[in-house]
Amino acid sequence: MKPDLFEAPDYYNLDELLSDEHKLVRQAARDWVKRDVSPIIEEYAQKAEFPNQIIKGLAEIGAFGPYIPEEYGGAGLDQISYGLIMQEIERGDSGVRSTASVQSSLVMYPIWKYGNEEQRKKYLPKLASGEWMGCFGLTEPDHGSNPGGMTTNFKDKGDHYLLNGAKMWISNAPFAQVAVVWAKNEEGRIHGLIVERGMEGFSTPETHNKWSLRASATGELIFDNVKVPKENLLPNKSGLGAPLGCLDSARYGIAWGVIGAAMDCYDTALRYSKERIQFGKPIGQFQLQQKKLAEMITEITKAQLLTWRLGVLRNEGKATSAQISMAKRNNVEMAINIAREARQILGGMGITGEYSIMRHSMNLESVITYEGTHDIHLLITGLDITGLNAIQ
Ligand SMILES: Cc1cc2nc3c(=O)[nH]c(=O)nc-3n(C[C@H](O)[C@H](O)[C@H](O)COP(=O)(O)OP(=O)(O)OC[C@H]3O[C@@H](n4cnc5c(N)ncnc54)[C@H](O)[C@@H]3O)c2cc1C
Repeated sequence: MKPDLFEAPDYYNLDELLSDEHKLVRQAARDWVKRDVSPIIEEYAQKAEFPNQIIKGLAEIGAFGPYIPEEYGGAGLDQISYGLIMQEIERGDSGVRSTASVQSSLVMYPIWKYGNEEQRKKYLPKLASGEWMGCFGLTEPDHGSNPGGMTTNFKDKGDHYLLNGAKMWISNAPFAQVAVVWAKNEEGRIHGLIVERGMEGFSTPETHNKWSLRASATGELIFDNVKVPKENLLPNKSGLGAPLGCLDSARYGIAWGVIGAAMDCYDTALRYSKERIQFGKPIGQFQLQQKKLAEMITEITKAQLLTWRLGVLRNEGKATSAQISMAKRNNVEMAINIAREARQILGGMGITGEYSIMRHSMNLESVITYEGTHDIHLLITGLDITGLNAIQ
């Protein structure tokens, strides 16, 4: 892979909206991605393997629980810092960002928000340091966009719960020590349970042959009469709103993250367009290539403004789930379109692993589907503005 020469575009001087702390946090993440991710990520994506050696570095830049209070090992940062960390990591690779998103928003967040003090103290510091990795089991083979229909269930057996069912498409599953699993009790109410590797009847087979997020490990969670200690139930929130609350936090991170992927594609294509000579001129001098580049920077700038404002609303505790859906949907589509256009600017070179663009392009095909599909987010906006539910 070519050396990482990334320079971040900031067409509207948005850095003026950031605090010194935001910029320091971003710089640390950017430097780490250049040093520890860019040189190895193409190789790991090609061999479809998660690079375990980067876990420590992810913890050090605050990617595991950026906004979780320091008393639990988190970085205690605000929502804009959280977003900027996700942006920088996804600039390197969406699969690496997925690992961090799951750990922070889908594992640490529910333990912090819905767990009790013993659970927080037992799990959060180890998850923040990367000593333990976590995964989040919501999706099932027959229930993706409709998680409320889940059939994974647990029964009260007096001194423990008995858990049965299966989850699929679970990021980090093959190596996670801890799984936050959503299952129905005997009354059909959804609860979160913390399931640990090693519990009898719990297995995590890996999903192979993905063309997307190849550097992120994906798998199933199988529960065959797993005895879960009663103290592993998250006591402070139940119902579908509990997992959806985690998804709000993760989707917000995605809205920032994909800007990173888009910026990397734009920056690569801009540089290439000035270096590649055809018909005696740099291809960037042809109007058709300038149109692509001008539209890319326009869309990146709009996405940056959207997420920055959403970050301010999140810091004030005012962002709605529907606002987060809009940003996730808009920004992922923006990034996927930019990756496709950038690939064309590189001609044949664009399909090779010499450059990051094709990998970003393929990764974004998962990002547009997970954490609520593109269609479902549109329907959430539709529901929000009309008050009429077209989802079910
Ligand atoms: C790489 C990867 C990693 C993932 N990681 C995790 C994870 O860590 N944890 C987890 O729990 N899940 C995870 N997922 C699962 C992901 O969230 C689901 O794939 C997603 O929610 C969609 O579910 P589905 O694939 O079953 O598609 P379906 O729900 O079957 O949807 C298929 C199509 O139908 C459309 N559709 C569905 N319902 C409607 C409707 N009401 N109106 C109009 N159109 C509709 C969808 O938009 C989509 O286009 C991951 C997925 C992938 C690909």
